[in-house]
Amino acid sequence: MAVSGLPPYDDANIFARILQGEIPAKKVYEDAWAFAFHDINPQAPVHVLVIPKGKYVSFADFTASASAEEIAGFMRAVGKVAKDLGLEASGYRLLLNMGEHSGQEVPHLHVHLFGGRPLGRMLSSGS
Ligand code: 5GP
Repeated sequence: MAVSGLPPYDDANIFARILQGEIPAKKVYEDAWAFAFHDINPQAPVHVLVIPKGKYVSFADFTASASAEEIAGFMRAVGKVAKDLGLEASGYRLLLNMGEHSGQEVPHLHVHLFGGRPLGRMLSSGS
């Protein structure tokens, strides 16, 4: 088990393969720290995923192991993507799933960026 309770980083995970250019993605932004692309199954008019370039399975892994420079670079990239997409005036939501109870599906840290309409309450009731 890695630090997050998830298995260790898997180089074959889908987002690693997108980063390596093995699987196509609709790219929105890229810099030294981050890569952003449209979610394949959008839940809002704008639904973009922002991922760090480093190999981190989860938020727990990232915050425990990434350098301050990586963390700052990644967070600045998330803000820049939202700004570049024109979402600052209307607002947006960031969502980050971590581990089993969150429903995290892909074991490479990713931030969901939603916008383009009023987004309603924060959580569904779940079941
Ligand atoms: P999670 O549930 O792990 O927080 O979110 C994973 C997200 O990745 C989902 O919203 C899902 O639609 C998206 N996703 C899964 N596979 C692909 C893919 O191959 N390409 C893209 N662009 N998004 C994907």
